[in-house]
Amino acid sequence: MIVVMKAGAEAEKCEAVMREIARLGYKPHPIVGVERTVIAAVGDERGKAALQALEGLPGVEKVVPILKPYKLASRLEHRERTVITVQGVAIGGPEVVVMAGPCTVESYEQVYETAVAVKAAGARILRGGAFKPRTSPYSFQGLEEVGLRILQQVGKELGLPIVTECMNPEDAELVAAYADIIQIGARNVQNFSLLKRVGRLDVPVLLKRGMSTTIEELLLSAEYILSAGNPRVILCERGIRTFEKATRNTLDLSAVPVLHAETHLPVIVDPSHATGHWQYVTPMAKAAIAAGADGLLVEVHPHPAQALCDGPQSLKPATFCAMMRELAPVARAVGRQL
Ligand code: PEP
Ligand code: MN
Repeated sequence: MIVVMKAGAEAEKCEAVMREIARLGYKPHPIVGVERTVIAAVGDERGKAALQALEGLPGVEKVVPILKPYKLASRLEHRERTVITVQGVAIGGPEVVVMAGPCTVESYEQVYETAVAVKAAGARILRGGAFKPRTSPYSFQGLEEVGLRILQQVGKELGLPIVTECMNPEDAELVAAYADIIQIGARNVQNFSLLKRVGRLDVPVLLKRGMSTTIEELLLSAEYILSAGNPRVILCERGIRTFEKATRNTLDLSAVPVLHAETHLPVIVDPSHATGHWQYVTPMAKAAIAAGADGLLVEVHPHPAQALCDGPQSLKPATFCAMMRELAPVARAVGRQL
């Protein structure tokens, strides 16, 4: 932390700041300039909000943090990329892992038909929501535990691990009993009670970026899960809200290389929620792989026109299959495989 003193701040004020820095357990290191003095507080400043409070002392202009506020998520602490293996599927390794399935579980037949098709096309993980975060309370809310059971059954029958959302801290153990990966959706990225709860589970977590969440905030949300004891966190860029209306959200693909620079955690991209239109899913999936994504989360429905949720952005199985064929050379071009 660097404490910048006001221009011309008297020596006594600088000394008082140095005494306070020492009292907080840091080593004060003053640099006396012609116009002003800056004082470095040497020590691990993360999690030490007390240092920021030095701004309240007389003669202090501002207090500037030097280190990133997240630690366990940071690449500085952990140079090697984290690879998360779920039933033999390695996320964060050389393979681009495609997770696909319906937005929401509607019936056994719907999930089974989708799962057979996406598996045949090369998907490695089955997605599907049983607890749905819907903007309107009048929209279909999900089949809840019945949906979890359907997903688990289909997953077992086809040998596909499943990823499904948990919205409520009270449901975390229930979802964990069925899911191979627990999804935390965009709307819950800063539900800190939920993050702490899934942080205590022994199940990997797929953490989606919120529509108005900065990359730093996303990493701090990951830090909640990591610091609660769960080291298996996968980050997901799914589009952010901007002024643009042509797509449901704006896919912030630069988040992929930024996150790879900042963190060792795997980063995947959801081109379905990012664009909101099935026609744009394949091009953005290609772009995501080119940008370095470790995986994709894609919505597929056998009959999108009848889907209870997110039909317009869902690929038909045949379109998904065609997309997978088109993605393979893109993955090869960037040294990955599908
Ligand atoms: C989903 O993946 O089903 C979902 C609701 O996505 P998001 O939280 O990104 O809106
Ligand atoms: Mn959806």
